[in-house]
Amino acid sequence: MPELPDVEVYKQRADAWAVGGRIQHVSAPQPEILEGGSVQSLGRELHECRLQRTRRHGKFLFLGLDSGRWLVLHFGMSGRLERFDCSQERPAHTDFSLELEDGTCLAYVAPRKLGLISLIDDPDDFIAERELGVDALSVDQDSFLDLAKGRRSGVKCWLMSQQILAGLGNVYSDEILYRARMHPKTKVSDLNEDALRGLFAARAEVLEISIEAGADPQRLPDDFLLPHREAGAACPRCDGTIRPLKACGRTAYLCPDCQPPNGQ
Ligand SMILES: [Zn+2]
Repeated sequence: MPELPDVEVYKQRADAWAVGGRIQHVSAPQPEILEGGSVQSLGRELHECRLQRTRRHGKFLFLGLDSGRWLVLHFGMSGRLERFDCSQERPAHTDFSLELEDGTCLAYVAPRKLGLISLIDDPDDFIAERELGVDALSVDQDSFLDLAKGRRSGVKCWLMSQQILAGLGNVYSDEILYRARMHPKTKVSDLNEDALRGLFAARAEVLEISIEAGADPQRLPDDFLLPHREAGAACPRCDGTIRPLKACGRTAYLCPDCQPPNGQ
């Protein structure tokens, strides 16, 4: 499931591939992905618009148009952004694409559905309406410490709550907790300030290194959990074994030796 690092990589792709380009044609082989409008109305509205800028908040990508409006994309369970030559066959599972004046198409590709594309007036209003928390990459340390105050939930649940900190899901919350050597079910209210500062730093390191690696698990450093994230795998840091654990309704992975319960 695409999380903050993946969407940040898609933002970089949109910046490199599409910003500055003028939209000639819109196609939506899977029109159900569009929210609040038909392909025809979207096509009319976007025709001849130039893509001016991009923005990301949590797991949402916003494409700013010279009309002043924005396309917002959420990548659901499996979505990604691709580019193809419009004269060639589009990639399998293309749900939506924008044909640009240079003959390239920016494609939203999703083998599994549940994503979302919509035309909106203002990203800030969209973020407020969805009650999204502060972006998990750009949050500053004081805000991060404030967000933890009075929270009695497990730290994994807290990290994954989009209304508190937008952008983290099951995989990257595990990665951050692994780096911080913290058990997923540790109560946030049981973390002292040093532990929270360590968690804040682990979040920054994991996100920055993952984005630098193109959010590609194959390119992540070997001491990351993600390349070893399966039951029975050897912990790259100690003699321990990676184990699954039900936490916050998801299957978390951790090294119980590096991340003991109530350890800080
Ligand atoms: Zn370990």
